[in-house]
Amino acid sequence: MIIWDFNVIMAIVMTLSLGFVISLWVFYTLGRSPAAADRDFFRQCRFCGYLYFDYSKKTPGTCPCCGSYQD
Ligand SMILES: [Zn+2]
Repeated sequence: MIIWDFNVIMAIVMTLSLGFVISLWVFYTLGRSPAAADRDFFRQCRFCGYLYFDYSKKTPGTCPCCGSYQD
């Protein structure tokens, strides 16, 4: 029989909270890749070679580095 004193209760609470944090970490790191979500917005300037994310989806977009128009 388990004697429910403060140390046992704190050990159970800490184990459950650590398991919760680890499960959230596994869910967010292995479930989906953040690089795959941003792949559609990834652009490279044809003139200066600057790599950037274009979330506006405007055509023609402009390079944030040199300001040239991109298709
Ligand atoms: Zn550029």
